[in-house]
Amino acid sequence: MERIKGLILTDGARIGIIGGGPAGSFFSIFASKLARDIGKALDFTIYERKTFANHGASGCNMCAGVISESLVQSLALEGINLPSSVVRWGIESYFFHTQNGSVQIKSSRLQQRGIATVFRGGGPAGSLEKDVQSFDGFLLQKAIDCGTQVKHVIVDEIRLDGGKPGLYSGGRILQDCDLLVGAFGVKASTSKMCEKLGTGYKIPPTIKATQSEIELGRDWVASRFGHSIHIFLLRIPGIKFISIIPKGDYITISALGKEPGVNHIKTFLDHPVMKKMLPSGFKIPERFCHCFPKINVGAARKPFANRLVFVGDAGSSRLYKDGIGSAYITSKAAAYTALLHGVGEEDFRGYYLPVCKTLNRDNLFGRFLFSANDFISIIPPVSRCYFKVIQLEQDGLQRNTPYGDVLWDMFTGSRFYKDIFVRALSPWLTMHLLSVMIASFFKKVFFPHTRK
Ligand SMILES: Cc1cc2nc3c(=O)[nH]c(=O)nc-3n(C[C@H](O)[C@H](O)[C@H](O)COP(=O)(O)OP(=O)(O)OC[C@H]3O[C@@H](n4cnc5c(N)ncnc54)[C@H](O)[C@@H]3O)c2cc1C
Repeated sequence: MERIKGLILTDGARIGIIGGGPAGSFFSIFASKLARDIGKALDFTIYERKTFANHGASGCNMCAGVISESLVQSLALEGINLPSSVVRWGIESYFFHTQNGSVQIKSSRLQQRGIATVFRGGGPAGSLEKDVQSFDGFLLQKAIDCGTQVKHVIVDEIRLDGGKPGLYSGGRILQDCDLLVGAFGVKASTSKMCEKLGTGYKIPPTIKATQSEIELGRDWVASRFGHSIHIFLLRIPGIKFISIIPKGDYITISALGKEPGVNHIKTFLDHPVMKKMLPSGFKIPERFCHCFPKINVGAARKPFANRLVFVGDAGSSRLYKDGIGSAYITSKAAAYTALLHGVGEEDFRGYYLPVCKTLNRDNLFGRFLFSANDFISIIPPVSRCYFKVIQLEQDGLQRNTPYGDVLWDMFTGSRFYKDIFVRALSPWLTMHLLSVMIASFFKKVFFPHTRK
């Protein structure tokens, strides 16, 4: 594609958005609001194959459904307040469970239950809950309220022949685009279609995850899991970590690893640490709602071209955390670039790419932090000391809670990884942890019979 300068959206310009997940909805919300503010009349259409009304995987964008504290706040500032029909549960703390015990972490920063858990679709397969509103459906409605048209069709072909991208479905043209926004995530064959356009775009690397919805009843969920997300660092082969997210009658079990499967979930539910949290006599259901989505663990190559930009998971996303928050960041940056600067390759390179690069660079620090966390969790003496220090902090025996804050920020995704990295490597923290480990070692050697 030739490089053109001065491509701008003029009155009547048509913007086609493939994907009505968070990234597609955010893009059209921000771009249409900005267009109104600067007095431009633009035409937005989202093409989304799902309606987000069905139960189970067919109506859902398959994720753990944790809306980070920072995103809840950013949305509120945009005037988007999540209603109680969307929020399944408010979260106020995290529990970390290891072979050697559990520790609860709270953050003094968190406003009351400021993290929300949601279902992305109409709820788990087989669920009888009636008052569930999908998070993605809610955002899509916000886009419609801003004047965007939504068409529930699959875009199965894109052509670039006339200079403007053309979208097709079943051989019929849907529209020509003055700007095409790729907000199709990483789960779809659509990404391959875009790679073949020859603009240099390459989809981000992904790993497989597994998600399961287990029904335990609201009372059990409330009493055993509370308003907390539970992270399990249990050294189950093939599993990096497992999170449990309470959602009313259900818990969502989200596992990341090499090739997580249903058997990993069954092994986990049978693990003594987890068994304690299940009703006595609990039997793993024969059938339960589960899926194997892919999770973005890197950056797309060249997520833009003339009249073309890729946002959300199809562009750049934060490692393991806050993917929806990343969709918010990239969609907003792409919308502002398109409306305020132009839709040429050079415009996106100048104003959109730096935002993606910030996320991509930050993920390098995230990768280091998660590797360090893996290392700590797999070596029992180190893991024991680390969680002991955190426990002391949280019990209020120490004034500050730097270790707890590091874990909190890593797992909630509420701070940039670089910032967490700098704090985690502070000489004071490292020396303190080492001194606790050495003290614990000598205690074990010289006073083996004293209690821990
Ligand atoms: C196991 C797991 C757990 C996660 N947990 C969290 C979490 O707790 N919190 C968090 O913030 N993030 C989480 N994420 C990441 C989060 O799911 C993504 O970052 C987020 O969904 C990205 O939004 P998106 O709009 O870019 O893509 P998606 O949500 O994937 O939306 C893409 C949309 O495009 C549509 N589409 C694709 N191709 C076409 C086509 N050709 N025609 C029409 N429609 C099309 C799809 O139907 C879909 O609706 C998790 C991910 C995984 C895999």
